[in-house]
This record gives sequence, structure tokens and C-alpha cells, in this order.
Amino acid sequence: MPKTSLSPVGFTTTIPLEILLAAGRQPVDLNNVFITDPACHDLIDEAEMAGFPRNICGWIKGLYGATLRQGIQEIIAVTEGDCSNTKALMEVLQLHGVTTTPFAFPYDRSVASLTHEINKLADHFGVSAEQIEAARQRLNQVRRKVHEIDRLTWQENLVSGEENHYFQVCTSDMNGDVDAFEAEVDAFLDQARKRQPKTGMLRLAYMGVPPIFTDLYQVLEESGGQVVFNETQRQFSMPYATDSLIEQYRRYTYPYDIFVRLADIEEEIAKRQVDGIIHYVQSFCFRQIEDLIVRQRFKLPILTLEGDRPGPLDARTRIRVEGFVEMIRARKS
Ligand code: SF4
Repeated sequence: MPKTSLSPVGFTTTIPLEILLAAGRQPVDLNNVFITDPACHDLIDEAEMAGFPRNICGWIKGLYGATLRQGIQEIIAVTEGDCSNTKALMEVLQLHGVTTTPFAFPYDRSVASLTHEINKLADHFGVSAEQIEAARQRLNQVRRKVHEIDRLTWQENLVSGEENHYFQVCTSDMNGDVDAFEAEVDAFLDQARKRQPKTGMLRLAYMGVPPIFTDLYQVLEESGGQVVFNETQRQFSMPYATDSLIEQYRRYTYPYDIFVRLADIEEEIAKRQVDGIIHYVQSFCFRQIEDLIVRQRFKLPILTLEGDRPGPLDARTRIRVEGFVEMIRARKS
């Protein structure tokens, strides 16, 4: 976590970041803290030793461990639009004295319900609509640069799938420091624009929650497959130009139903000329059920991968990934 004097506020999935920025608080996406911790395995072990069941998603246990390890005193828990486990997580953290504020993305995406939720959060942090809009304009400056990284990925083949994943996933909290993150993005753009385009790679889409595997992109690339579309990570970067905060978080697809997400994915895989889809599902996650809808909806080859704990791909999964890329290549030739 970056060193800063601002008081940190953790959150369990993307929330309207503009509110924290307007309030002068440091945003901390607990998922990023968990997965980038060199001892992320220990965080899961600590959660299990505290009593979290074995058959609960690794991300939830990681969020618990990360919150306590980092000494975060206040979190926003997204109780609708992400994960029902978050409610119990929120309660357990309250036991440890962590202040929790719930936030809900309404399932029906109604303007009225979302406005109500956002206003509640803004009131909690004591910020006005004008302050929030100023923060949105600032964040959008950085987001537009990250959109350019995405464009350089799929249109110019200058950015790897893993780099694309990294910069987009970081937009959920701007690594806790907007100015420092923007400088990192600027430096990367300078460097990426000087590269030679990569050729001869199969073009893959990645859909689902970000992977808990540490080497998936690397293994795909070694097999000859380049991820040119990271679905959820791109959503974190707020990819649509919108006139208002409410519209921005209505168009953000991740917290709503699968059909909203599928419409976005279909548009992007057509535009990006994707050859095949990796659908990542997390062990013990309700979203696994959606795989059957995904498989019915797309005609492209789909490989469903399931991950449980952080770490490299196991041998069997690695062979499946390599075989999938090989199969697509054979079909194309
Ligand atoms: S992967 Fe699924 S079960 Fe795990 S935190 Fe995310 S939504 Fe919840």
C-alpha cells in the first residue's frame, strides 16, 4: 500500500471512487492488497484459522486477512451487486472493531435506487455533488490514459494481456494515489508506444473475475495466445463516456446481471476480432453457475478455468490452457 498521510478506506469491490477522492481519503481496494501481498497464502490461512470455512471463496478470506494485516479501520462493503459472502465478512470485521459502511448496486439498475445509494455514501463522507464531480473529472483524466493502454493492446498489439490486466485492475483504487498512478501510466505509455507490434498471436478474451492464478497470462503467451480483452478489469476503468456519475455507474456492467455483461462482451469480442474465450471462475463462487449461460451464448471456443488459492497454474490446468490455444490454432489453419 502506498505511503500517504490520508486516512485509508478499504473496499471489497469497485465503489464510486469519486466520493473517497472528494473526501480526501485514501482508497484501498482490498482485493489488490490481498493478491499483491507476497504472503497472500498466509492471509487465507489466517482466515481459515479464525474459522472461515474451507468451502468459502479465497478472495473473501483474502479480504479478511488483508484488512486485519494492514490495520485498516474503515471499509465500504458492497452488499449487493457483488457477493453475498460480503455481508458475513462485514459482520466478522465489525467484531474486530472495523467500521463498515454498506453500499449496494441495485440489481434493477434504476436511476432512483442508484442515486439513493450514492447520495447515502456521499452523505456518510460529507461531500457535495460539486466536489464529487470535480473528483470524477480528475479520475477521468487518468482513466482515459488507461483506455489508451487498452487500445494499444487490441488495436496495435503493443501491450501484453498481463500489462493490460494490471493497469485496468489498478483503476479500482488508482493504487491509492492518483498522481503517482498517473505518472506510472504516463511512463508506461511512453515506453509501450516505442515497441514493435507483436505478431502471429491468437487473440483471446478473458472474462470473469480477475484470476487468482499468478501466471495465467504468461502461460497463455508462451502458448501463443494474447489476451486482447480483459472484461471485468476493463469495467473497473469505467470505459464509457458518460455525462454524470449516476450514468457512469449504471453503465458499469460488473455488478448487474449477466445479460448486461454479455452485451458488452459480445460487442468487444467482435470489435477486437477474438479467436477464443477464457472464462475464469472462482471455486465456491455463485458466478460459476453463469458459465452455462456463457457457453450457450457464444459460438467461439471457450475454456472454463477454475481457481481456488493464489499461485501458479497446476499441471493439469496448464495442459488444458496449452491444449486450448493449440486447438484454436489448428482450427484457424
Ligand atoms: S469470486 Fe465470487 S464468491 Fe469470491 S468474492 Fe468474488 S463474487 Fe464473491
